[in-house]
Amino acid sequence: MKLFPSKDRARITEIFSSLQGEGPRMGERQLFIRFESCHLACEYCDERMKRGRELPLAEVLRAVDALEKMSGPHAHVSLTGGEPLLYTAFLKPLCRELQKRKYRTLLETNGVLGGELKKVLGFCHLIAMDMKLASVTGGKSLLNEHAEFLKVAVKKETYVKIAVSPKIDRAEYGAHIRMVASLAPQTPVFLQPVSERGEGIPAPKLLKLLEQLQRIGRERLPDVRLGIQLHKVLKIR
Ligand code: SF4
Repeated sequence: MKLFPSKDRARITEIFSSLQGEGPRMGERQLFIRFESCHLACEYCDERMKRGRELPLAEVLRAVDALEKMSGPHAHVSLTGGEPLLYTAFLKPLCRELQKRKYRTLLETNGVLGGELKKVLGFCHLIAMDMKLASVTGGKSLLNEHAEFLKVAVKKETYVKIAVSPKIDRAEYGAHIRMVASLAPQTPVFLQPVSERGEGIPAPKLLKLLEQLQRIGRERLPDVRLGIQLHKVLKIR
């Protein structure tokens, strides 16, 4: 895994204003700063390979100020990716500047870099933590890394998202649900369908699976919800 060490510059794919498409803040007007690169390789990823350009902090802040003027007020600045926690050296001064401008920050992360999260936790108001199940991503199990991350994240308002495809292994899903139940049972969990055609609405068979997983999750946790991806339904960024 390669961390980006610069405090002054970061590789940014895009900065834009849109509606939050997932989780409890769905529909909220947010300002998105999307960081390039991710150290995972989920089979269904449509972001990891996007290329951006290296931007100095001052230019990022100029873009933020211009968007706020044009499309604000924004309820949160969403730090997303790729994986924003690869850029903690840059996130610190960026978040300091965002705080001065009175923004709330939402960190959208793959939920495995607990050590990096500690460095910027004080700047985060809200954490959207993905849990990556090996049966869905095609990668290795990250259960232990997710547990370590959640122990840190739980100090802030946090919600969990689990991508669900027909490949999901129920035993693996159950282990993740038990882990959340043992560490942070009040954390809302969103089951996010991975739609093969990218249209955001699950096919009937996948919807049935989501409902079954919700029932399994609700045996241990009070708040397990079906998520959709609003931005895909509305065909917006
Ligand atoms: S963690 Fe997110 S950005 Fe990284 S490869 Fe997986 S889906 Fe893509």
